[in-house]
Amino acid sequence: MINRWIIFTICMLAGGGLGFWARTANGLTFGLGVGLALGALAWLVIDSFYVSRLLRWLRTEQNNDTPAVMTGAAPNLPGVWREIVDRTRRLLKHRDQQLRESQARLDEFLAAMQASPSGVVLLDAQGRIEWCNHMATQHFGFDAQRDVLQHIANLVREPAFSAYMAAGNFSHDVLIPGNFSTPARPVKLSVHVHSYGKDRKLLLSRDITAVELAEAMRRDFVANVSHEIRTPLTVLSGFIETLQTLPLKEPERARYLSLMAQQSQRMQTLVNDLLTLSRLEGSPFPGASDWMTISALMAQCEQEAKALSLVIAPRGHQLEFDQGPNSEVAGVQTELYSAMSNLVTNAVRYTPEGGLVSVSWTLLEDGRGEFKVRDTGPGIAREHLPRLTERFYRIDRSRSRETGGTGLGLAIVKHVAQRHGAELHIQSELGQGSCFSIIFPAVRVRRIQAA
Ligand code: ADP
Repeated sequence: MINRWIIFTICMLAGGGLGFWARTANGLTFGLGVGLALGALAWLVIDSFYVSRLLRWLRTEQNNDTPAVMTGAAPNLPGVWREIVDRTRRLLKHRDQQLRESQARLDEFLAAMQASPSGVVLLDAQGRIEWCNHMATQHFGFDAQRDVLQHIANLVREPAFSAYMAAGNFSHDVLIPGNFSTPARPVKLSVHVHSYGKDRKLLLSRDITAVELAEAMRRDFVANVSHEIRTPLTVLSGFIETLQTLPLKEPERARYLSLMAQQSQRMQTLVNDLLTLSRLEGSPFPGASDWMTISALMAQCEQEAKALSLVIAPRGHQLEFDQGPNSEVAGVQTELYSAMSNLVTNAVRYTPEGGLVSVSWTLLEDGRGEFKVRDTGPGIAREHLPRLTERFYRIDRSRSRETGGTGLGLAIVKHVAQRHGAELHIQSELGQGSCFSIIFPAVRVRRIQAA
């Protein structure tokens, strides 16, 4: 400040001196007056020069688009102006630092919102989109840039959503079809709005297609199991009632008891298959360190096939078992046997009396091993093939039940194959018999020397 006074004093003294030196006919007073005025003018010019340099620098800083960086070099001014420049520069630096920090925080926050598995949309008080994350653009088909400040009601025209927004009761969510939903591939979204700030809204969307599908499958499964158990239970309780109320002769009693035994056997098979399935789903994948000989597994299947054939077909079937080269397969013995025996018993059950069922094991050129079951049964129409491994899917319900089927056999086979890294192939044509094969990967198959 002193500096400014000194410059002012120097200007005035110089002006006064000049006036004194140049005093004219108008006298000393006039000369001094003019001199002092000139001195004051000179001071004003010098001061204005410093002010203009300061202002130019400040304007450059203000127009700077990248606030995190200070542009134009600070002017080198004397005295009080230097202090003003220094203090302003420090203030600007502090502001830049703060801006940089809050920008970084905002970036992190937005990155977290982007990473959210839910769709996130921020709406202003008028219901216009302020910001949305990538997931929301997928759920609703928004364009994150173009649709900013668009009214959400103009972009999401689902009637259920419009009614939800109009009602303003956001204590629950609303279910609407997603952007790419088609009748063939329905996509279901759960949308929930939360109010925050001053009339602002946070809209969260979640794709619940898979959850809904799992829930529908669970419902179907429970309904199927109940149905499968209810039928033999009804038959059983009917027989029990008859036995309790009617004085039956011995042969009749024996016949009823045998039918009851059949029904309870059916329930037992169903429960066993259900337990097998749940064990397969719940247990860790089998390792590849326990090796089973194919010949032993096939011998077991052969015995079972012969016994079953005798029970269901008095004239029996032609059964061919080719154990192929001596080999071993790595996995869980009970699972492998269950898968193989399901294919073999299916072939026997669905092939009419006298038909041919041939079972073989071969080593393929690339080291994989193929377990194949062919039959000369009725064959399967093409449209059923993709659904055969679904639980309780049957083409001929009565034939399945007559022969003790549960509708879970091929689902078990598929699970076991998947758990062992194997593939299940089904080839069949109506009237042409069927061919089911499990192809094991080379890492789980090895050839062994004959003893
Ligand atoms: P199920 O206990 O009913 O046999 P599966 O899951 O083993 O249940 O088989 C599903 C359906 O596939 C069967 O109901 C049957 O209609 C059909 N199927 C399975 N194997 C054969 C086969 N070898 N020949 C003809 N149809 C078959």
